[in-house]
Amino acid sequence: MQITNVRAHHIRIPYDAGGASFRQGASAITALETVILEVSTDAGLTGWGDAFAYVCPRTTCTAIEEMIAPQARGIEVPDAAGIPAVMDQIQRNLHLFGRYGITMFAISGLDIALWDLAAKIEGAPLNRLIGTPRRTKIPAYASLLRIGTPERIADECEVALRHGYGAIKLHETTTPAVFAARAAIGDRTPLMVDLNCPLDGASAIAFAKDCSAAHPLFLEEPVWPPEDFATLAEVRAKGGLDIAAGENACTVHQFRQMMSAGAVSHAQPSVIKVGGITEFLKIAALADEMGIHIVPHSPYFGPGFLATLHLMSLRDDGLIEVFYLKRAACLWRGRIYADASGSIEVPEGPGLGYEPDQDVMERYRVA
Ligand SMILES: [Mg+2]
Repeated sequence: MQITNVRAHHIRIPYDAGGASFRQGASAITALETVILEVSTDAGLTGWGDAFAYVCPRTTCTAIEEMIAPQARGIEVPDAAGIPAVMDQIQRNLHLFGRYGITMFAISGLDIALWDLAAKIEGAPLNRLIGTPRRTKIPAYASLLRIGTPERIADECEVALRHGYGAIKLHETTTPAVFAARAAIGDRTPLMVDLNCPLDGASAIAFAKDCSAAHPLFLEEPVWPPEDFATLAEVRAKGGLDIAAGENACTVHQFRQMMSAGAVSHAQPSVIKVGGITEFLKIAALADEMGIHIVPHSPYFGPGFLATLHLMSLRDDGLIEVFYLKRAACLWRGRIYADASGSIEVPEGPGLGYEPDQDVMERYRVA
């Protein structure tokens, strides 16, 4: 079976997050920009993946069309055992365009689609193709967008708990925000705090100490720049809190540097950024060797979210991240919402388990 084409679809689904906001630097993000990668074959089977895009969907689409499609068109569809070699060759072919960032995001999309295809060829769900599933549903945490004022943070935390979520993550950078959330959710609900890389080492250590009475499960990305693993390790050692990072790291090689530096207690590979399922599996194996938790980055709702469910079903523990917002439409016919116990079912169909809803794709298609 040969790959006949690789196509990028830009799908833009609006969302409502109430008073919360979502920004990337100067850009307000008002819709979920998803770049879906479709791999077609001469046997009529289709594989789906996605590549991280947020504020640059056209750039990501171009990377897929210009860099990825020529690498994949015409090759034999690999089976599970053959995917790592195919992806290694493509990483080699494209290394001069950068090992981190858009190139690797586009590579991630192809990798996910190849795994989807390999599992479909076997007629198996992705998790059974890879290993032995340990869980049929994955507990989710509500990943709140940036809110700001302590009163509204408390309100939003209470609403998320009422919807069934058993754990909360904030995207806030002040101690009143952290203590407001803790007061709202009580002592026993896990609380995580994501800073998105603003601080120098000394400020991050001070922030960790100031937050310690609210006992966060971890502080996420407290330090700028994200690849300064030595400073992150210092914050972890002197701040007294567990540290999570990894959404800005790609490939097992950078994760090895991060873990070896002692920078993290919780590693956060993002399947649509890190190099796909192939790299995620290497990182998970390394984390297990080193006694580090895996808590993946997954604030998105395309094929990569389904892949993350499968990957986490192979582990005994670990939460899945769900961006806390109301989407105008779901690509998976409403099947990836958290249930009353705050968990999400792992799909059981072949491959990633669900096919994208073509009506939703057409209605919200940009390109
Ligand atoms: Mg984060």
